[in-house]
Amino acid sequence: MSFVVPNTLKGFGVTLKQVFKKPITQQYPEYKRPVYPRYRGRHRLNVHENGLEKCVGCSLCAAACPADCIRVVAAENTPTNRVSAGERYARIYEINMSRCIFCGYCELACPFDAITLGNDFEISEYNRDDLIYTKDMLLAPPIKRVPVADADLYDTPIPYYKEHS
Ligand code: SF4
Ligand code: SF4
Repeated sequence: MSFVVPNTLKGFGVTLKQVFKKPITQQYPEYKRPVYPRYRGRHRLNVHENGLEKCVGCSLCAAACPADCIRVVAAENTPTNRVSAGERYARIYEINMSRCIFCGYCELACPFDAITLGNDFEISEYNRDDLIYTKDMLLAPPIKRVPVADADLYDTPIPYYKEHS
């Protein structure tokens, strides 16, 4: 019993000391921790400088996707309606983000760099249907921008990035 009281007071002392220390909690969303430079987040469909879409509707990304969450329906370009630089374009391009595991296989499979994964991770929704990203959504520039860390400044090692940069 004689040890209990001093030990309890010691415990309170430790707690009290912490009360006056500056908190180290980072408040989200006010503070957004920079992501790794190679972080895979929200997808983007890219266009050429002349405005034509890079995607030619070949569906290789859909075939490579292990989560089966990409749907591509291709259509022919015509002289009066040229959408992409190839023979065909993606009339429908959808990604079901609720199934996506952000593996990046779609990006690797694409022969034209038409689909890439960006850095945005703020893609939560209240409605599951809103997680089906349409072509228009994927073509639009990202609304939210998440900072990307400088590999040299990042506070944890990024061995792979440093080796391959
Ligand atoms: S990142 Fe992976 S799971 Fe997500 S759409 Fe691409 S291939 Fe499919
Ligand atoms: S994003 Fe790339 S792989 Fe997918 S359909 Fe378009 S061109 Fe083909």
